[in-house]
Amino acid sequence: MTRPEPLIGCLVCHQEGTIELVSPSQRVLNIGDNYPRLICQSCQSVAIFDGDEDDGDIQWRIRYKTVGDSSVTYDYAKRKLKPSLWHQDDDALELSRDIYTQRYRIQQLQNKDFEWLRPETLNPPPPLMRPDETVYLTLKSVSYCEEQPTQLGLFKKAPEILDTGICYITDSKVHLLGQRRDRSHKLSEIQAEYKDDIWYARIADNSLYYTGFSQSKLDAEVIVTIFKVLSGLTGTEDN
Ligand SMILES: [Zn+2]
Repeated sequence: MTRPEPLIGCLVCHQEGTIELVSPSQRVLNIGDNYPRLICQSCQSVAIFDGDEDDGDIQWRIRYKTVGDSSVTYDYAKRKLKPSLWHQDDDALELSRDIYTQRYRIQQLQNKDFEWLRPETLNPPPPLMRPDETVYLTLKSVSYCEEQPTQLGLFKKAPEILDTGICYITDSKVHLLGQRRDRSHKLSEIQAEYKDDIWYARIADNSLYYTGFSQSKLDAEVIVTIFKVLSGLTGTEDN
């Protein structure tokens, strides 16, 4: 008999042998459900486990009460493993693989390893792009928006979408091939951030920003990290 995966290794931090199983009878205050808890001694994640502890062949499901410690390393996992959601075995293992990949990608970027993005120069380059600019990322369905001023006593108005198109992030700039016109800004002018599955590249001292959603294998946090690491490499030199 094999043990189910969540008892062998942590689905969040992927350490093995760190899972402590606490049965309902061992809990100090045995209130609520009757499922055992899985506590990871490495990342402090706590999950409710519903399945046979000694048989990995049968179905199980898991629900995370808390994910990771307070470090930002687990932000993606926190967004995917919501405390209100049960995850069936296959779904939980797939999410766990995504969490691993996403963390690995961010580490690669922080170590300035961009090879997996397959950087390239475009020939011919689109308007406003220099022939020697290296394109690190191409994103579809990117919007260029303007924040609307909040009027006193009124709700904040929705931002105005000025344009949409294909966005290129290069070694020095962000370019938008918009439906209305082409635009570009230096990375040194950009402040990138994300919220849930949406990334924002704000133009400093301005109410204008580029924005888009996470794409299949590129989470908003990874996109924001690409902006930050590349603009850190560019510095403030005039490109
Ligand atoms: Zn863990």
